[in-house]
Formats: sequence, structure tokens, C-alpha cells
Amino acid sequence: MEADESTQDIVIVGAGISGLATALGLHRLGIRSIVLESSENLRATGFAISLYFNAWKAMEALGISQHVRSLGDRFQGWVVTPISSGNPPKEMFFPESEEYEVRCVQRKSLLEALAGELPDGTIRFSSKLVHIELSGHYKMVHLSDGTILKTKVLVGCDGVNSVVGKWLGFKNPVKSPRFAILGLTHFPTGHGLGRRFFQFFGNGVRYGFISCDQNTVYWFLTHTSTEIDKKNREKIKQFVVTKIKDFKDGWSDPSLLRILLKRCYYQNLKNMRCDVYIGRCC
Ligand SMILES: Cc1cc2nc3c(=O)[nH]c(=O)nc-3n(C[C@H](O)[C@H](O)[C@H](O)COP(=O)(O)OP(=O)(O)OC[C@H]3O[C@@H](n4cnc5c(N)ncnc54)[C@H](O)[C@@H]3O)c2cc1C
Repeated sequence: MEADESTQDIVIVGAGISGLATALGLHRLGIRSIVLESSENLRATGFAISLYFNAWKAMEALGISQHVRSLGDRFQGWVVTPISSGNPPKEMFFPESEEYEVRCVQRKSLLEALAGELPDGTIRFSSKLVHIELSGHYKMVHLSDGTILKTKVLVGCDGVNSVVGKWLGFKNPVKSPRFAILGLTHFPTGHGLGRRFFQFFGNGVRYGFISCDQNTVYWFLTHTSTEIDKKNREKIKQFVVTKIKDFKDGWSDPSLLRILLKRCYYQNLKNMRCDVYIGRCC
């Protein structure tokens, strides 16, 4: 095993939203840190994320709010529709004030915005933490390639199955048997869906879509089923189609989600920017 040449002041594990935001916050205060990331590059799993009022306070503090604002249209409110009861949709509009700013941005763009503000060399990719031990006041951080880093402060931002959390004695995450199937669908000439977050629920299904910008729609479907083959994309598509086959969402018949899904698969074949992810919500 190799010991790294120097002692680090602060090592952050995980270059997700929390790890990069922590590193950037420290950098703005003039404090150097390094971020260890197990992947070879920034991970964008999840496709898009809605940034609500508290997120904008954090963006302001990190000095990237103007840049991140340019990544997603401000949306005006929610429309929530029960799919089976025949009840009318419920609409809620946000007041115009800054306090109620909400935007949906692509996760990859958000990660790039955070990473782009960090000094070169801050993020160390392909650096997977596997083990931690104490050495006096220091932490010895063991990576999967045999490297050992010595640090005064270790910050765990390594997600739901955190190695740092386990070392600290945190309980294992509680798993919910609810799956999410997510996608981004690209409309080169604009989607025309407006700037509201549409959600539909009933019969164990919840699905929705939201505009990130005038060309991109983020959509999701969640369900309690456990018998789905997560790796078989054709089966995932079939699963969604079956679950929504009788739904009428007012956009198209039988459902706009079906169009988003179909288009997403078509675009994927053409190697365009769109994908489907299925994961277990914890
Ligand atoms: C599918 C999905 C959709 C979501 N949608 C929304 C949303 O719309 N709005 C919202 O507010 N929240 C949403 N969330 C929740 C929010 O996105 C997550 O809470 C957020 O991504 C957590 O960020 P994080 O930086 O803590 O962890 P993560 O994003 O999980 O990042 C952890 C990073 O640590 C790295 N890592 C893990 N283990 C190691 C290791 N041993 N060594 C080195 N690196 C390691 C990983 O590769 C990863 O890059 C969603 C979550 C998921 C899973």
C-alpha cells in the first residue's frame, strides 16, 4: 500500500451535490479540500432535480445562483390530478416573489456548475474509499487502489450507502419497496407543455412530468411493484405502458407519459440525450 505524499486538511468523500457544495463552500472561505469520487467522472444519476426555495439560498451562498438559474426555467406551480376518481385537477400557483422560486435542472448540469467553480485538482476521480482507521487525531483513508491518505478532517458525502456513515455507526438505510422509473425526453423544436409540474396518482401509481427548459422534459413513474427486471429496458418500457394504459391525463389519449416514453426510446436508439433509470427509493 502507498501512503500519499502529504497530510490533507480536509478530505470529502463523494462528488455528488453535497460533496461538491461542501468543497465549494469551503473554497469560498479560502479553505482547501480534496474530493474523492469513486466514479471515473461526475455521476448524473437521477436525470433532473427540482430546486426549491432553500436550494436557492444555498446557491446564493455558494455564488452560483445566476449560473444555475440559466439552466432551468422557473416554474409557475403544480397541477395534481387523481387518475381514477374522476375528480378535477387541483392547481396551486406560486406567488411571483423571489421567495417562491422553483426550477428543475438537469443533475449533470448542476454538478458541472458546482465542479466548474472548484480549483483544478480538487476532485480526484476513480478514488474509491474502502476503509477508514484512526491514527491519533488523524484519519487514515484507504482507497481501493491501495492509496492511503492522511487527513485531519473527513467529511462523508458518499450517498445512501455511505462508507463514512457506516464507520460512524449510522444505521443501514431503510428500503422502501417503491421503484422510480425516470427519463429525460428531448424535443428539438420545443415541447409546449408550459412551466407547471404535472402529477397524477392512483391505483398504486404516481407519475408526472416537468419542463427543465423549452426543449427538455423530465418525467417519472413510481410504483410499489417488486418483480421488475431493472436491467431489461424493453421490459421497463412495457411495465410503464401497462400501468398507464387506461389513464387519461388531458394532454393526449391515452396519456402524455406514453408519448414521452416512446420518444425517449426512439431518441435513445438515435444516440440522443435521453435515458431511463430505475432504482430503489430508500
Ligand atoms: C432517483 C432520485 C431522484 C431524486 N430526485 C430528487 C429531486 O427531484 N429533488 C430533490 O430535492 N431530491 C431528489 N433526490 C434526492 C437527492 O437527489 C439526493 O438526496 C442527492 O442526490 C443526494 O446527494 P449526495 O451528494 O448526498 O449523494 P449522491 O448524489 O448519491 O452522491 C454520492 C457520491 O458519492 C460517490 N461515492 C459513493 N460511495 C463512494 C466511495 N466509497 N468512495 C468514493 N466515492 C463514493 C458516488 O459515486 C456519488 O457520486 C433524488 C434522489 C434519487 C435517488
